[in-house]
Amino acid sequence: MKYYSTNKQVAPASLQEAVVKGLAADRGLFMPEKIKTLPAEFYENIDKLSFQEIAYTVADAFFGEDIDAETLKAIVYDTLNFDAPVVPVSEGIYSLELYHGPTLAFKDVGGRFMARLLGYFIKKEGQTDVNVLVATSGDTGSAVANGFLGVKGIHVYVLYPKGLVSPIQECQFTTLGQNITALEVDGTFDDCQALVKSAFMDEELNAKLNLTSANSINVARFLPQAFYYFYAYAQLKKMGKEKEMVICVPSGNFGNITAGLFGKKMGLPIKRFIAANNRNDIFLQYINTGVYTPKPSVSTIANAMDVGDPSNFARVLDLYDHSWEAIKSEISSCSYTDEQIAETVANTYRDTKYLLDPHGAVGYRALQEGLKPNETGVFLETAHPAKFLETVERIIGVSVEIPQKLQEFMKGTKQSIELGKDFAGFKAYLMKK
Ligand SMILES: *Cc1c(COP(=O)(O)O)cnc(C)c1O
Repeated sequence: MKYYSTNKQVAPASLQEAVVKGLAADRGLFMPEKIKTLPAEFYENIDKLSFQEIAYTVADAFFGEDIDAETLKAIVYDTLNFDAPVVPVSEGIYSLELYHGPTLAFKDVGGRFMARLLGYFIKKEGQTDVNVLVATSGDTGSAVANGFLGVKGIHVYVLYPKGLVSPIQECQFTTLGQNITALEVDGTFDDCQALVKSAFMDEELNAKLNLTSANSINVARFLPQAFYYFYAYAQLKKMGKEKEMVICVPSGNFGNITAGLFGKKMGLPIKRFIAANNRNDIFLQYINTGVYTPKPSVSTIANAMDVGDPSNFARVLDLYDHSWEAIKSEISSCSYTDEQIAETVANTYRDTKYLLDPHGAVGYRALQEGLKPNETGVFLETAHPAKFLETVERIIGVSVEIPQKLQEFMKGTKQSIELGKDFAGFKAYLMKK
């Protein structure tokens, strides 16, 4: 299958080119040229299939023409060696827990899938080393770094904003060593993302280093996120609750929700979506006015969503042929302050004993306020609350148990290289590699 650029200024690319390049040469984002509808029998029997079986069917629809069945199956099964349960929280509202992977956040799914797919392409081509650049607002860095750790022929550079990620998040990508280098940038997430984008556009750098991106702009990272929307539906169907399903996605760069929108295009019966935001409300403003105005990001307690110019907005526009009406009819939005997020974590814990993380709290609150009678709401619980330990403990006044997997990361020593936010300094550093 071919992948076209959302800017449509360059010829469509193969899957391998799209995955290795990350971003199209015209700075557009790659989109699969076909979105296949899955057969009715699949949806009828979905509740009898495992997470891995469901995911393989979805993966086959996108990647089946380019990867042999056995390899693709191995990549999918190996990626999903953990569960994503749907758990009831309150009347009509369920949490899709996406934090059961190795770094306890949903990004493990895309990170692990992409690492395995890229590894496969490199081996197949006998290709030279690839350098992966990834900007992180918190969780991407750890999911990508851990997904790629020890993969031969690939070096990963993680760019993160100094002082703006939680200590636990930081240790998950600064303590790994091997083929992982952490770059601590004196700036915001948007500055990190701008550095990565500029690096891809720099001919001299690209001539020297084989660069690729592992941000959610990469098709191999964002498309696999569709898997768990299907699995959530399967679990609700098992409970007889799948009618009028509303999915609420705590959103930052809009990669996660875009994967869900792809699912809907493939026939998954989702009634509508809510994109839940913290104070970075660019999408809400767009829904309200029809005008997209990027703004510098502001920092919040749901820091993985502190994004002022969501990259995947270009994909949302493309999916709906740039129609504001069409987008508004399927996706609504809302924005919450830090005080409202904290209040939601505290009240939910008090009333239900369910402990939300600050991102999931944004999603839960949006359903509490926006669900209509007869609708069933599922919010994506995008990370484990212990990843935001100080914040969550301060809010609920109770100490939170740190899962074993997280404790292991905290034992390592931090290794990182400090950089300014100017591109010249970043380029000079990479040119010496
Ligand atoms: C990355 C992240 C988000 C935002 O996901 P996008 O795909 O960028 O919209 C939400 N919550 C957590 C915990 C994250 O790590």
